Amino acid sequence: KPKLLMTPGPTPLPPEVIAAMSQQIIHHRTKEFGEIFSRVNENLKKVFQTKNNVLTFAASGTGAMEASAVNFFSEGDIVLVVSVGVFGDRFINICKTFGLNVIEKKYPYGDVANIDEVIEIIEANKDIKGVFITHNETSTGVTNPIEKLARYLKNTDKILIVDAVSSLGAIDLKTDEWGVDVVVTGSQKALMSPPGLAFVSVSEKAWEFYKKSQLRKFYWDFKKYQDNLLKESQDTPFTPAVTLIRAVDVGLKLILDFGLENNFKRHTRLAHLTQLAAEKLNLELLPKKEYSSAVITAIKSPEGVDIEKVRKIMNQKYDIMVTGGQATLKGKIIRIGHMGYVDEFDLLKTIECFELALLEVGYRNFDVGEATKAVLQEIAKEV
Ligand code: PMP
Repeated sequence: KPKLLMTPGPTPLPPEVIAAMSQQIIHHRTKEFGEIFSRVNENLKKVFQTKNNVLTFAASGTGAMEASAVNFFSEGDIVLVVSVGVFGDRFINICKTFGLNVIEKKYPYGDVANIDEVIEIIEANKDIKGVFITHNETSTGVTNPIEKLARYLKNTDKILIVDAVSSLGAIDLKTDEWGVDVVVTGSQKALMSPPGLAFVSVSEKAWEFYKKSQLRKFYWDFKKYQDNLLKESQDTPFTPAVTLIRAVDVGLKLILDFGLENNFKRHTRLAHLTQLAAEKLNLELLPKKEYSSAVITAIKSPEGVDIEKVRKIMNQKYDIMVTGGQATLKGKIIRIGHMGYVDEFDLLKTIECFELALLEVGYRNFDVGEATKAVLQEIAKEV
């Protein structure tokens, strides 16, 4: 039986996406590929909510995070990195690797970024050239309120780079309207596609930064990708992952047919159901409910419970993959993903098995069936 991936990526694939990958390879310097790729690019713009081109790379999300430091800055440039978890910390490491002068604004894991505080730092450091922030911090299940930061930075000489790897398509991010200069995402999360592609949108303001950037780049040189999108038959400078592009073509189409707004609502509802289940199980969320993510719910391990064992039982006995904590949160939390091609019934099954796994490790502080019933009753309201 295939495992049900209730993880924050990779996520399960719709059958139409799987089918798209079983076709013969076509050459990428052809009209046939150009047609597919142009459609992908138009649909990416819709999902990114931007009029600017979205660049496609054969890479995971981290590759595009690295590229977004390399393409816009030079050694010694002062940047501010806001981190609320593992992926914010990754931006700090990347920026340091390339010799940027990093001001770190770190929040404890489980907290949300305080945008007023972030703006104060920017006001006090006029030489900051760019600000990096994670939209949805997958490691802690926190969504940062980036709109306010973006709108503030829009009227400055600084650019904003957002890691939307686990949010784009599932949590609203109005790239152009809010003024986010660079948005980075990956194929394997909310876009209902396999791992292997990374996407980056670049604003006109960010292209001005590109012109001044001295950091070395070859494969990652954004202009090469941009130039190939300006050709009559669009393609990529180097051989694209043709099969994955076919897959994402279908994934994007499914999302847009369903409607972006509907997709945001659907994820918010899945998060609501998961939070409700945690409450009925007398379990605490890691973050406060107000900023708990729509795509992943991080639940604290109760005292004396081996939460890693719960995770393993769910995986091995019930074929449901959820994830544990990363870095300092290892063994302290369990994370239930509700992202992409998963629905209320997948979640219902997950909660049932979560109850059973909790029982198996000796946690008794709940009435068996209460959480499952609460979720089912919520679903029943819509019948
Ligand atoms: N940023 C965030 C917010 C993520 O969730 C992830 C993947 N979990 C990444 C970056 C890194 O993406 P990848 O594993 O595709 O390199």
